[in-house]
Amino acid sequence: MSTHSNINRIRERERLVAQIEREGIRSPAVLDALRQVPREAFVPAELHEAAYYDSALPIGHEQTISQPFVVALMAATLELKSTDRVLEIGTGSGYAAAVLAAIAKEVYTVERHRELAETARERLRTLGFANVHVLHADGTRGWPEHAPYQAITVAAGGPDVPQPLRDQLAIGGRLVIPVGRKPSQQQLIRVRKIAEDDYRQENLGEVRFVPLVGAAGWDGEERVR
Ligand code: SAH
Repeated sequence: MSTHSNINRIRERERLVAQIEREGIRSPAVLDALRQVPREAFVPAELHEAAYYDSALPIGHEQTISQPFVVALMAATLELKSTDRVLEIGTGSGYAAAVLAAIAKEVYTVERHRELAETARERLRTLGFANVHVLHADGTRGWPEHAPYQAITVAAGGPDVPQPLRDQLAIGGRLVIPVGRKPSQQQLIRVRKIAEDDYRQENLGEVRFVPLVGAAGWDGEERVR
């Protein structure tokens, strides 16, 4: 990529961050993280021009890189601290993991599509995000080896909150997940773990994510349980 287009990308990124701020994301840590991650490196080459539109974009395997505003909203909702260990379910392109990794200490991210997991792992390594760890597995089971997590974020919508994710949340931890009775339409839910087996739940409004497919998710793309 030429220096000229690099400068344009930086301008476009700055404009997008300013727009996201106007739309209500006030956390300086989240806005700074968005400034640090080159989103064009996470989208297919033919979509580089669209990298700084505030929209989801296709990344293959019927999956999408999340809309930047939604990534910012989820990161802000997690109330991340620089010392937090974070679990993300649904690595996809790795973009949200990189944004989280610019704020928190370590990010553990799980992706069920082998190819997406491998591409994201390689991309994050090349870009120097050494504190992101990618696992190819069913994320509805979490990643027990590194639990407990101070924050857990799920980038796909399930029928309810998977119990393994509640279990792997630290006391005082926050879990943000889209939950809905249909695979393609959800409410964004924040769960706080107050004490062992004591959770507070808030509904943050309607969202649309791709389906969470797995043991504690949907078992078929469009099947309603
Ligand atoms: N955070 C991603 C968004 C990816 S879209 C980004 O910024 O690019 C959601 C991803 O969740 C998809 O890649 C999909 O394959 C994955 N997914 C769906 N169900 C899953 C499961 N049970 N475990 C892990 N990943 C899952």
